[in-house]
Amino acid sequence: MVAETVPGGVKKKSIDFTVFIIFMKSEDIILSPIHVLDAQRKAGNIKTRDIVSAVMNRRRATEPVLNAYIHQIPDEVCLEQADCADDKLRRGEPVHILEGMPIGVKDIFNVIGTPLTCASKILTGYVSPYESTVTSRLKDAGYLMTGKLNMDEFAMGSSTENSAYGAVRNPWDTDRVPGGSSGGSAAAVAAGSCLAALGTDTGGSIRQPAMFTGTFGIKPTYGFCSRYGMSAFASSFDQAGPITKDVEDSAVILQQIGGFDERDSTSLNIGKPDLVSGLKQGIEGMRVGVIQNLDLSVCDEEIRQNFEQSVDLFRKNGCQIVSVNIEHIQHSIAVYYIIACSEASSNLGRYDGIRYGHRSPAAAKIGDVFRLSRDEGFGNEVKLRILLGTFALSSGYYDAYYSKAKKIQSMYRRQFQQIFSDIDILLTPVSPVRPFKLNEKMDDPLQMYLADVFTVIVNLAGIPAASVPSGFSAQKLPLGIQLMAGHLKEADLLRTAYWFEKQAALEYPPQKI
Ligand code: GLN
Repeated sequence: MVAETVPGGVKKKSIDFTVFIIFMKSEDIILSPIHVLDAQRKAGNIKTRDIVSAVMNRRRATEPVLNAYIHQIPDEVCLEQADCADDKLRRGEPVHILEGMPIGVKDIFNVIGTPLTCASKILTGYVSPYESTVTSRLKDAGYLMTGKLNMDEFAMGSSTENSAYGAVRNPWDTDRVPGGSSGGSAAAVAAGSCLAALGTDTGGSIRQPAMFTGTFGIKPTYGFCSRYGMSAFASSFDQAGPITKDVEDSAVILQQIGGFDERDSTSLNIGKPDLVSGLKQGIEGMRVGVIQNLDLSVCDEEIRQNFEQSVDLFRKNGCQIVSVNIEHIQHSIAVYYIIACSEASSNLGRYDGIRYGHRSPAAAKIGDVFRLSRDEGFGNEVKLRILLGTFALSSGYYDAYYSKAKKIQSMYRRQFQQIFSDIDILLTPVSPVRPFKLNEKMDDPLQMYLADVFTVIVNLAGIPAASVPSGFSAQKLPLGIQLMAGHLKEADLLRTAYWFEKQAALEYPPQKI
């Protein structure tokens, strides 16, 4: 088992969720996945109120340090919603697994009547007048929104340090970052200040923070979840997805939020997904690929070793390991950043000081309203990307940069189609680096970009991928591996991740908060 071989890995998780009878302590509640707690409340062992109040207490205790939330829904409101779920249970009415369950939402989704900031000063004072499709589907299930979670401004970054609301800290080591851009989502789930969260992933922003915090995160196929009501960064890559304590919770949430939506023209015409029923079927006969020409020498040694041990686990369990080659893979970061910045420069044109949020009080003329409001409202990383994207799209450079990048993207897509006609799952590390210290990479944006080496290719190809915990480093920092699957093969991906999670059976060390 991975747990026996990974550096710092230890055997079997100390909490055996099946043995809870009658009583669960708060410490156990905040460590438990939603499906376990739902089973407990339906067996009459705990109340939804106990679950919610444990999470609220944890939120109160951790927020002064973690800073995972930008906007918190007050305890009383949350507890009242928990009581509604308990009343229904008492009356013997059907209660959805997510009903009354405390779930956080990355502050990039519109939730009607709630402030939306995208962690940017430019949206100061903006309150959503409408609801995103994914949050409205969670509402249909009766979820309890704990609040809006911190992130890198407009989802641009890999550390959640680019937030106008301050950096987020990693609960496993509060001197370190939780990854990004969905770092608030990942840190809150890991700490138990919510039990699951919504994130978004344009180039790794669900998977990399999931790895950095020892949580599970999945980015579905492009078009699996509606983007309606989700603020745009790079529209041709952006996807919503869950970050959860385990694979089963993600299957439940993704099943609830996924599927066709006529309000998003890029949403795929698929029926209601079924991701839960086949989850426990195992991986017999599965063909698992590794990318032969992927340069693993860029990885920290512990990450490389952990990855190889994880591949071995598949091999030992009878999977056929197949080597694949992806031509020009070394250019994926350049291709991603050219396209992502180009789309961002266009998408962020709407923040003009007139339609939403911040308007410079110093502006006297119309031109100054645009110029000063944008200058005061956007942070440095966002400005950098708008400049890069505007340059890449400008006449004279369009063919050399944007158009060439799109051609390479098409080539990647064709190759992945071919590869997944032969194999079921492709394995890579998630990030070449372990969670790093705050401010360690802030002066060098290029270093930060280069660490996206394993994640961006997935968004370029439009395929689903997940990060699954695979051990702990010698310093007790979480490690994870990335699983990719073919177009719309979310069920296979989750089934494999579920199997891996059970095999790894990690014991989590205590958090430093
Ligand atoms: N780190 C990548 C970037 O900065 C990915 C961000 C994301 O997925 N939202 O663009």
